[in-house]
Amino acid sequence: MATIDNLPPLREVIATHELSAKKALGQNFLLDLNLTAKIARQAGDLSGCDVLEIGPGPGGLTRGLLAEGARRVLAIEKDARCLPALAEIAEAYPGRLQVLNADALQVDATQYLTPPIRVVANLPYNVGTELLVRWLTPEVWPPFWDSLTLMFQKEVAERIVATPGSKAYGRLAILAQWRAEARIVMTLPPEAFTPPPKIHSAVVHLTRRDAPAFPADAATLSRLVAAAFNQRRKMLRASLKGAAPDIEDKLRAAGLDPTLRAEQVPLEGFCALARIVKP
Ligand code: SAM
Repeated sequence: MATIDNLPPLREVIATHELSAKKALGQNFLLDLNLTAKIARQAGDLSGCDVLEIGPGPGGLTRGLLAEGARRVLAIEKDARCLPALAEIAEAYPGRLQVLNADALQVDATQYLTPPIRVVANLPYNVGTELLVRWLTPEVWPPFWDSLTLMFQKEVAERIVATPGSKAYGRLAILAQWRAEARIVMTLPPEAFTPPPKIHSAVVHLTRRDAPAFPADAATLSRLVAAAFNQRRKMLRASLKGAAPDIEDKLRAAGLDPTLRAEQVPLEGFCALARIVKP
């Protein structure tokens, strides 16, 4: 098999540094460097970009990102056992890899990065959605990142790109698609990972929109969407009853039939309603 760098194969790295996978840290490693390089390529041309990687583990994707030409990679890894393996990569790519031994939920990575910034990660499943929601809901927009290229369990990936009328359509789809263009760019079977997880995985690529797809106040939109999907089987006139006075009139003014259910309403409809309800 062709190699992408002169470092040892990942199986050898894992054996040398005794990196047996820990379930509690969501450790399912990618050991095929051709596959990690392919994931890195989904993020586009990285040559002029800083890349933020969460959870590098033994460094398969990190090596893919560096071999594909990332200007710099900042990798945040919680498991200190991985640090010696990552230090070997840093040595092979002088000045281009910085590793932080930290919890990605606790650290402010932006201070270590220079725009343009892309985020690329094979995320630990236990923190993936939480990180995505944070990246999509900063206090000011546009955010620090230009694009996010992220591995999720396939079900979560499908919720991010879901369209109205599907079971997967809900808060995550609206949040993601309001402020970004999202598509699934790769799917991976369990066998691609060591150890293989029980589920299939998929890589989602999100490109930020400079302005949201439709105007709306973020907090109002979020409140309405939460209320509507918390009771997704109910008609909007019932699920949104507590959301604003005279909700039936407001729904009609937004061009929405009050007997619709949340999953039938496109993003544009929720934004129109948010503009009428106001903060
Ligand atoms: N990127 C590697 C790969 O593709 O083979 C490893 C991916 S593995 C699914 C997830 C990685 O995230 C593990 O290395 C794990 O230790 C790390 N991790 C888990 N929780 C974390 C957190 N809160 N902050 C930073 N890293 C975390």
